[in-house]
Amino acid sequence: MPATPIPVHEGGCLCGAVRYRVHGKPALTAVCHCTFCQRRLASAFAIVAFFPEESVEFLQGEMSTHEHISDASGRWLRVNFCPHCGTSMGHTAEFRPGVRAVAAGTLDERDWLTIDRHVWVQSKLPWVQIPDGMPTYQQAYVAP
Ligand SMILES: [Zn+2]
Ligand SMILES: [Zn+2]
Repeated sequence: MPATPIPVHEGGCLCGAVRYRVHGKPALTAVCHCTFCQRRLASAFAIVAFFPEESVEFLQGEMSTHEHISDASGRWLRVNFCPHCGTSMGHTAEFRPGVRAVAAGTLDERDWLTIDRHVWVQSKLPWVQIPDGMPTYQQAYVAP
């Protein structure tokens, strides 16, 4: 019997300069309500899909990087965006080696993605409603 093919999804920025492909399902998906995500996306929350770095293939376009050093931990977080249209493409973090966080709103098709948890709920905007039964964390999710 042939092996089931690994699902592939593509995405890109608003202007089309940056294009990428992800292989397989994300290891984890989260809605993040932290103030850092609110500001970097100018939005209420972030939809983040974490993939092993080797599962994210960049097809075209150079991304710009903004490095943020955490006040709390002193560790870096590198946010990638399109230098032409400014679309946030995702980030990598010193504390998650080998993992790339894809800004899931940039996927061409987004309806297949399910959310595993909501994090940083302590700074969630008051009008955002989290579905019943959804795992929530006041701050970051720390793997057990
Ligand atoms: Zn662009
Ligand atoms: Zn966040």
